[in-house]
Amino acid sequence: MSDKLQKILFQKANARGSLVELSDAWTEMLSHHTYPMPVTKLLGEMTAAVVLLSGSIKFNGSTVMQIHGDGPVRLLVVECSNTMQIRATAKIHEELPVKDTDTFSSLVNANGKGRCIITLDPHEKIPGQRPYQGIISLEGETVSEVLENYMKRSEQLDTRIWLAADSTHARGVMLQRMPAQLDERGVALTDSKEDENAWQHLTALASTLKVQEMLSTDIATLQHRLFWEEDVAVFEPLQPAFHCGCNREKVSNMLKMLGQAEVEQALQEQGALTIQCDYCGKSYRFDSIDCKTLFSPVSAQETPSDTRH
Ligand SMILES: [Zn+2]
Repeated sequence: MSDKLQKILFQKANARGSLVELSDAWTEMLSHHTYPMPVTKLLGEMTAAVVLLSGSIKFNGSTVMQIHGDGPVRLLVVECSNTMQIRATAKIHEELPVKDTDTFSSLVNANGKGRCIITLDPHEKIPGQRPYQGIISLEGETVSEVLENYMKRSEQLDTRIWLAADSTHARGVMLQRMPAQLDERGVALTDSKEDENAWQHLTALASTLKVQEMLSTDIATLQHRLFWEEDVAVFEPLQPAFHCGCNREKVSNMLKMLGQAEVEQALQEQGALTIQCDYCGKSYRFDSIDCKTLFSPVSAQETPSDTRH
């Protein structure tokens, strides 16, 4: 398998790491869209990062990262479930062209008003339960910096992330410093100075990574190149894959939320509604009879879910 998330544990340091490799899933996601290269790179870095994050959180649900941009990119969304199903999409401003020289900041934080939202959305919600959401300002010049700041604040964990993406690969490396392990009396089992030195050593090793090197080297080779002298425990790799969970029922619910007046007006203008999924490109068509059914209370009770698909 080429796509994988490889978790590792540093036996002689209070630290863990993970490396992600996306090729098949990433090219499949891109096949549904045409993005300018700077947007492809940014979305690829985000996708690798969300897989790394999702793999590091013990949580039965989806990790969603959204960036609401105030520059040429209006919105970037990446979702990864705890079973490593991923999807991603970007929305670009129609009137602001993307330049080849655009950076993270100029794409999504041109006026300092961009923001990032991380959502942990549980799969089985208790009634009334809302997903956990953290809203963060875009402090940093890269996706890595924004997420490192977020992890420091929300999880109180020192985290370092290295990311690289192009139109065929998205790769990432993450290091996380773990809290010191305590004995039964609450005394740390390891020396804090040694922990600090070990952490500095690991981050210094990974900081030698260059973007070009990450793009041209598989993660098994990267892992060996960086950490061959370390005492590393390697876990069974997980396999991320592209998956879009869209269906006709979800699109119907979205139209219901939009409201009857709005839907009828759109119908009058267009004859029938065609809604295309932002993630996988699948089209859902609703003619006037479909729309009438949506807002008819009787049929809504009789057919709780649409069975045509
Ligand atoms: Zn879809």
